[in-house]
Amino acid sequence: MDRKFAALSMDVEDWYHLDCLQSCNPDTSKSMLDGFVNYAEMLNRHGIKATFFVLGELAQQARETLLYLDGCGHEIACHGMHHTPPTSLSPAAFAEQLRCAKQTLEDLLGKEVTGYRAPQNALDDERLAIVQKIGFHYDASWLDAPEHPISRRLHFSGWEEPLPGTRWRDGFCELPLCGSTLLGRPLCISGGGWMHVLPWHGVMKPLIAAYLREARVYTLCAYPFEFSDRAMPSLSGVSLQTRLRVLKSPGAMERRVEQLIDMLEHHAFEFATFEDLSHQLRREARP
Ligand SMILES: [Zn+2]
Repeated sequence: MDRKFAALSMDVEDWYHLDCLQSCNPDTSKSMLDGFVNYAEMLNRHGIKATFFVLGELAQQARETLLYLDGCGHEIACHGMHHTPPTSLSPAAFAEQLRCAKQTLEDLLGKEVTGYRAPQNALDDERLAIVQKIGFHYDASWLDAPEHPISRRLHFSGWEEPLPGTRWRDGFCELPLCGSTLLGRPLCISGGGWMHVLPWHGVMKPLIAAYLREARVYTLCAYPFEFSDRAMPSLSGVSLQTRLRVLKSPGAMERRVEQLIDMLEHHAFEFATFEDLSHQLRREARP
């Protein structure tokens, strides 16, 4: 039987890094990073090794937790230095920030950091080539959903697809977020706003279940604010859509991820870090 892999991750950033909140001048003195620890503890209870894409600017603040998680066998990967979308930076400025972020994490951990996910998933072909050139082994920014704005910026002509949805070329892997369609429109089923907004039992869970019946790779991207014990700081001047995007009820995401883990186990997925999955892709790719 073909092996199937589930790679769970979190983008280690605070609530005020969310792109949809940038216009409301968020109060950065308030933090919801406790959700980072809550999520990691939940995964530890399940014995699942996951990947944490960490912002370089938070590395010192989260130092003890990062060292602890590294010691537990989780993977620490890179989410850039600040939460600036790469496509808003010149290629040279992006390369400089990315080198700095990689070095910051490697100095803290004392080991190589091999994976990257772009803030706001905002990579194009030119900047993806920079990610590879700087020495990362894989990127995890792309969304495998045709016609979705995130999927349109990257093109993989000439790349192999060692496992359905993944891409591989010259020893470098793309490990995407998973996409599906709802009422003919593409959407991400690996986390993000739709996980909050759409009814879980009526819509999101059945969509993911249908995906898992066919897929060989599933990835999850969680955010600390979703697992925080603290309430979202008051938001002024944001749209109803944004309020829904960051809506959270206590314990809701924990319960959803617990059910997701049950579904993945039911469908015989093996849990892997993104780095483990990138090694698996190399084995599956043509020599
Ligand atoms: Zn992010």
